[in-house]
Amino acid sequence: MTTTPAGKSTSTTSDGARQRPPKPLPRPELKSLTAPYWDAAKRHELVMQRCTACAGWIFYPREQCPVCFSQKLEWAPVSGRGRVYTYTIVYQSAHPGFQSDTPYTYGIVQLDEGVRIPTNIVGCAPQDVRVDMPVVAVFDDVSADWTLVKFKPA
Ligand SMILES: [Zn+2]
Repeated sequence: MTTTPAGKSTSTTSDGARQRPPKPLPRPELKSLTAPYWDAAKRHELVMQRCTACAGWIFYPREQCPVCFSQKLEWAPVSGRGRVYTYTIVYQSAHPGFQSDTPYTYGIVQLDEGVRIPTNIVGCAPQDVRVDMPVVAVFDDVSADWTLVKFKPA
């Protein structure tokens, strides 16, 4: 491995081909709209937006209710319990930063509150995941700054 004048590291393979440095893992952008979600995840709590006009739960975070268009939204804790709505097993990650995690399960969980959340199903072999399987939220502290919400069999 060598370092370029710009400070970027490079390496070469055994046949002398130049390799790019590994891409960093993607991180969520911390914006004021989503900050309550990420702050709660860091505390190992799951919160969602709720419309105070029609009482509907909302995910992903938005500035207005997608049902009644009210902008009177609040953040509230949810059960963290739900069922697998759909899933796929990832054998080849499109992002090289996740390749060492393969195979892994990417899924959509429908919370008991009705909202659906994209996530990873962990705590069991990918081939053991089933649609409608009961799951519960777990919190993966991937760095000092970020905690991801994942789900495991309940
Ligand atoms: Zn509403």
